[in-house]
Amino acid sequence: MQTGLEKISGLHTRHLMNTLPQSSALRIAVVGGGISGLAAANRILEERARLNRTVELKLLEASSRLGGVVHTIERDGFVMEGGPDSFISEKPWALSLCRRLGLEPNLISTGESQRRSFIVRQGKLQSVPDGFYLVAPTRIWPMITTPIFSWPGKLRMSADLFLPRRKLQSANEDESLASFVRRRLGREALERMAQPMIGGIYTADPEELSLRATMPRFLEMEQEHRSLILAMWRQRQKMLQSQSSGPRYGLFISLDQGMSRLVQALRKKLPASSIHLSSQVSALRWSPSAGHWILDLRNGAPLQADAVCLALAAFQSANLLEGFDTQLATELRSIRYASTATVNLAYSLEDIPRVLEGFGFVVPAIEKREILACTFSHMKFPGRAPQNHALFRAFMGGSLQPRAFDYDEGEMIRIVRQNLRELLGIEKAPLFALVERHVQAMAQYRVGHLDLVADIEANLKKHSTLQLAGNGFTGIGIPDCIRRGEECAGRLLEALEATSPQGSRRLA
Ligand SMILES: Cc1cc2nc3c(=O)[nH]c(=O)nc-3n(C[C@H](O)[C@H](O)[C@H](O)COP(=O)(O)OP(=O)(O)OC[C@H]3O[C@@H](n4cnc5c(N)ncnc54)[C@H](O)[C@@H]3O)c2cc1C
Repeated sequence: MQTGLEKISGLHTRHLMNTLPQSSALRIAVVGGGISGLAAANRILEERARLNRTVELKLLEASSRLGGVVHTIERDGFVMEGGPDSFISEKPWALSLCRRLGLEPNLISTGESQRRSFIVRQGKLQSVPDGFYLVAPTRIWPMITTPIFSWPGKLRMSADLFLPRRKLQSANEDESLASFVRRRLGREALERMAQPMIGGIYTADPEELSLRATMPRFLEMEQEHRSLILAMWRQRQKMLQSQSSGPRYGLFISLDQGMSRLVQALRKKLPASSIHLSSQVSALRWSPSAGHWILDLRNGAPLQADAVCLALAAFQSANLLEGFDTQLATELRSIRYASTATVNLAYSLEDIPRVLEGFGFVVPAIEKREILACTFSHMKFPGRAPQNHALFRAFMGGSLQPRAFDYDEGEMIRIVRQNLRELLGIEKAPLFALVERHVQAMAQYRVGHLDLVADIEANLKKHSTLQLAGNGFTGIGIPDCIRRGEECAGRLLEALEATSPQGSRRLA
């Protein structure tokens, strides 16, 4: 039924004005109770006064709990994250939301003194050289002395200082992370550093990962400064000068009882009657005659709504929109996702022969190990393990190791233990282990992603009371998901505002 709204097209808002009884409450449905949907629902409540109408909000979540991939589990004094363990302070939207929710006293950040991480090189953990930022060095001596790169590899990296900038054929020209790093810094920089560091964040294949959608700053740096190393060095100097009084928070922020505290705070803000758990939406339809949306539920009677925000993985939104806008559904489906699992292992400190001061390590794919990375959770944030205990959290799966995601829990734990034995010398069994799987949860921003998102946004303009949030579009991290959820809420309110009596007068 490409029909309904497609035919109405730009007339959608006007149609709503004509059909909505102006005295009734405006019904807004948010589908998906992950951080994106919660942020959208919260923003709707924060700004509903704009509408001069009562708002009836419904948050529909398929599972039996809110939070989506955000999931903290407490056991025997350990605070374990099954999903994200932090968010970055550089992007302000998560921090701002925490402040508005009164969570400022609960924020914790990583200790700057231990802000060190490791990388596996030929079966050993090596410190990431001081001043190395994701792909390029900003300090000479640590770079010269690191055993991570060979001498020819180091020389090749320094060629970046002399290489010309790439001439762009168009302003939107995209490139894969792999191509960019190989071109500027060489193959070793890609295989031994950029792949595990950046590819790891997205659990993505760097040969496919869009640089413009994930690390646009690198492209800008090349265009502006020509050399990436020079650009980063200049940026570091600026940062050092501006931070002479000390930054308020470190780069990574979390909450004292884990990330689920944010979910709980959002839940408290929403009226209990607005939250509908175990409510899976199976299709979304537009009723041209009634001028509203119809949400079919897997277990329950259909619901009506004047505006809808789908806060889901792109392919899940595609499933709901299939019968309504095939083109939009096809575009959404072309955004791929990868599955990933976390494995938390709890230990007594006396069973750890070698305590490393740092936040954890990443594993380059060329090392051929079946884990992607491991966080030393007890070192990264305070309160993650009881005194004299340690908590490790490993990642498995992703685009480059999809097979590892299919192992059963026992096999996953065995693999992580084997890696901890080989890399950290831990022979003893953990006190307990906890595996959490996230099926098709990590959006993969492939080359050309931003053009695809632009097409989706253009298509979506036809449906002013429908918005798409989630991590498939403009950022995968918690702050980006919050920003998009809030923006979607804002756009829905704007569309509905135009249908209010005041709005109608303005339009007339
Ligand atoms: C293991 C892991 C670690 C991560 N670590 C970090 C990190 O440290 N920092 C960071 O910033 N980001 C991190 N991320 C990324 C970030 O956590 C996610 O991108 C973000 O939480 C996604 O939130 P979301 O609400 O868009 O989606 P989800 O959390 O996937 O929520 C979607 C919700 O929709 C529900 N749903 C699905 N279909 C339907 C339907 N038909 N009807 C109703 N409900 C439905 C689902 O049950 C789910 O609850 C991590 C992600 C993963 C998987």
